[in-house]
Amino acid sequence: MEYRKLSTGQDISVIALGGALQVSEGQRAEEAIDFAYENGINFFDFAAAEEAPFAAYGNILASVRNKVYFQVHFGALYRDGKYAWGLDLDDIKKSVDAQMKALKTDYIDFGFIHCLDEEQDWVTYCDNGVFDYIKELKRDGVVRHIGCSTHTPKLAHKIIDTGEIEHMMFSINPAYDFNHGAYASGETSERLNLYERCEKEGIGISVMKPFAGGTLLDAATSPFNQALTKYQCIQYCLDKPGVKTVIPGAFNKKHLEEVLGFFDAAPEERDYSIIGSFTPTDAKGRCVYCNHCQPCPAGLDVALINKYYDLAKAGDELAEDHYRNLELKASDCISCGHCNERCPFGTDQVAKMKEIAEYFDR
Ligand code: SF4
Ligand code: SF4
Repeated sequence: MEYRKLSTGQDISVIALGGALQVSEGQRAEEAIDFAYENGINFFDFAAAEEAPFAAYGNILASVRNKVYFQVHFGALYRDGKYAWGLDLDDIKKSVDAQMKALKTDYIDFGFIHCLDEEQDWVTYCDNGVFDYIKELKRDGVVRHIGCSTHTPKLAHKIIDTGEIEHMMFSINPAYDFNHGAYASGETSERLNLYERCEKEGIGISVMKPFAGGTLLDAATSPFNQALTKYQCIQYCLDKPGVKTVIPGAFNKKHLEEVLGFFDAAPEERDYSIIGSFTPTDAKGRCVYCNHCQPCPAGLDVALINKYYDLAKAGDELAEDHYRNLELKASDCISCGHCNERCPFGTDQVAKMKEIAEYFDR
């Protein structure tokens, strides 16, 4: 397992276990949760399709509660055991209480305003006192950090503007980022700018829908008429600024085993640069940090240099610092053009390295 540090101090696993887990016939949730924990997963999301797995999480994780992190959604209700979305404060209080009881915990690491996709949802959450309730729980130490889940960049910015948000769940994948699919909200640049803002402001992103609801995994349903693999999608998400963990929606232990194979996958199995052949023209020319241009004959980490540059331009002082600590910088580029030939996204790194060197020498 690999871990990434949040600005709030926790080291969380880059793969998390989330709400897709099922307790239906032949699919034993406890076995899957135990397997997840034994394999280093320490981050668990509870926007679940059904209520039944909550007790299984409680049974397995109660004894190691101080070693794991729970992301609980205020607005995810479970009527008759099935997921429902609601904005009423009393319903939410009852649901959160029931979830905590089943999870055998008296605190929530990340208390999330759940599923904000319309401006009106946010107004209603505030008018109904739900946001105040989470803040009150934070003051009481029951909620350690406040977050939100959304598919909409515009709304994400608005919620982040409150200054209260420390973590965000957002849907990221090559389809949505390049204007394909049900939740492809916002233009490509708007979405990428949001990730940069999160990185800059220390707001960790946990990724939902990394496979676009599975549509990316099948050529028949992929918006690009070509299937991607789970490992390509996971790597794509992990390369985005701000991203700390990916929630791949494993239904059971078998799915989880398959996903965890990501860590043993060869670099070429994770290489998602194929998406460069079907990104829209207006997204061309922007580095997506995929590393496909490696190796650079001069030894430069082209993706990382681009990432630090983009973040520094967005005002991230830490990124500027990281850049200055790189052993090889843009000024070490020998303009050989190898990366330009390899880049499927049509970036001109010979020119870009000059631009980056000038920026940091200013
Ligand atoms: S320059 Fe192109 S190939 Fe290299 S990391 Fe950026 S997008 Fe990928
Ligand atoms: S152009 Fe510069 S960054 Fe690109 S491969 Fe050559 S030396 Fe490396």
